[in-house]
Amino acid sequence: MPLDVYLETFGCQMNELDSELVSSQLRALGYRFTERIDDARVVLFNTCSVREHAEQKVWSRLGELAVRKVRQPELVVGVLGCMAEREGDGLMKRMPVVDILVGPAELDKLPALLDNAVRTRISLAIDAPAPPPPEVDSLPSFIKKSLVSAGQIALQGTSSRRSQTLAAAGDQLELLDLSRATSPDDHSGSAYVRITRGCNKFCTYCVVPFTRGAEIHRPPEHIVDECKRLADAGIIEVTLLGQTVNHYRFEHGAAVTVDGVTQPQKGRVYRTGEDFADAYAGERVTTFAGLLKRIHDEVPGIQRLRFVTSYPKSFGNDVLQVIRESPRICRYLHVPAQSGSDRMLKAMNRGYTVQEYLDFLARAREFLHQPEIGRPLTVAGDIIVGFPGETEEDHLATAELLRTARYKNCFIFKYSPRPGTTAYDKLADDVPEETKRRRNNELLKLQLEISTRVGEEFIGRTMQVFVQGVSKRDSKRRAAEAACGTGSPGVESWASRGVALSIEGRVAPSTPVSAAGVAELKTPSEDLPNEMGGLPTQLSGRTEGDLIVLFDAPAGRSPESLVGQIVPVWIESSKMLSLMGRLAISAGV
Ligand code: SF4
Repeated sequence: MPLDVYLETFGCQMNELDSELVSSQLRALGYRFTERIDDARVVLFNTCSVREHAEQKVWSRLGELAVRKVRQPELVVGVLGCMAEREGDGLMKRMPVVDILVGPAELDKLPALLDNAVRTRISLAIDAPAPPPPEVDSLPSFIKKSLVSAGQIALQGTSSRRSQTLAAAGDQLELLDLSRATSPDDHSGSAYVRITRGCNKFCTYCVVPFTRGAEIHRPPEHIVDECKRLADAGIIEVTLLGQTVNHYRFEHGAAVTVDGVTQPQKGRVYRTGEDFADAYAGERVTTFAGLLKRIHDEVPGIQRLRFVTSYPKSFGNDVLQVIRESPRICRYLHVPAQSGSDRMLKAMNRGYTVQEYLDFLARAREFLHQPEIGRPLTVAGDIIVGFPGETEEDHLATAELLRTARYKNCFIFKYSPRPGTTAYDKLADDVPEETKRRRNNELLKLQLEISTRVGEEFIGRTMQVFVQGVSKRDSKRRAAEAACGTGSPGVESWASRGVALSIEGRVAPSTPVSAAGVAELKTPSEDLPNEMGGLPTQLSGRTEGDLIVLFDAPAGRSPESLVGQIVPVWIESSKMLSLMGRLAISAGV
């Protein structure tokens, strides 16, 4: 009898990819996945430590499971990811409900640990008699035994930083990426592909170098092959992932093979002032520019190639040139600034000045911003508000940076000290919460105005939009109508399918793409209604510049048949962070 697993992911895109790889590995071993935590025998949380809020949510979910485990001692609970690595076995001491701890660099060990934990919990469940009363503290000790953790732990600690030659031990985590399953029936038309892991930057506020370890780079052949397999399975959009993605560099002369598998390599740690571009040159090196070009040229089935997250320093013109010359590489950069004050950037150990950051944006726009040929460059940023020592003057400088940078959107967060970081140990969190909140709101308001103005520049243009699913608004509407049994005929089946079609969910495989780069639209093959309660179904998608576009599925056309395709949409208006438009073609619709 297969065990049902519930896996919940917190945090970033890297975690989403880790969760996908973990589930594909567990599925291959016979585990089954459920979307309802109450139905699961195994509950896994893939956690994030970047912000305190995400960790608090996990603590509270673990508290709920502790109560449930008293009634269900065979329940297995695992904490994966950065929080497991950061907290270490102290997490199990505080929450004995947790049976498994696996850091992000040790995920390949999960199947063995899970198997051990399941066996341990079954034996504990057999020993534990009668259903217990609800108050855990008042339980007799023989029942409390059922709450003892199965104690399965895989954390890297600081070992990856001590080891000089990663290849010496063989990089088992690479096997996790290589074993990725790509079923044509189980994807949304887009996928993440990891190219680097870890980080060498040590920004003073950030836990990533401690939880994910030193920066390492995957062999280019592995990455290109993975993209090919994804394209063969119908994926048309790939996002390359790395904490500092543009630092990618693989030195072929130094490649090491263990058991027939080329090992990833450690990234270089650059000294202040060292010329990054020169260090990247050389015939036997695959640079980030070279990797982008290879994927673009060798995998034409990938209609959209994008990458996150870029580090503003060390971003060579060679990369910008490859993007400019490659029609299928998206003209979109996510390049965090974090502050508009040199003083704050120094305290954060970011390694660049505001002027250097703005110079980079100007250089990128010079290469890539070509609205006249329908290919503008859009840029997204990140800002931390209320970092230790931030004055009103620093805050105003950040507002000025937002005006100059003209981001299409910006992730703006209040600083919260993270244990284990330099800032936590050495800098007093001295900006009052109320001041942080006010500054945060001021920047959010300003960015909303900027985003709206950036969006307005697209009005009257036809944009190629990758359709991701039914919009959030209509997914909710559909669920509500299904719940009260209202809506148009066929709503019941449509509503239940609506879950699978929602932006967050899985969708049908995509259709072939024409030479013009626009999907050949399918003829309506399924009789799903395109109207709900008399209104057309609203679809949501993204431009190559990652702008959200909302448009109505045309009359007589199944919305489902458009999902996972790239279609032309004429932009009529801009509202908040979205563009509103309508499908710009009628033939075949
Ligand atoms: S570059 Fe800085 S913020 Fe980004 S992951 Fe590395 S240490 Fe963290």
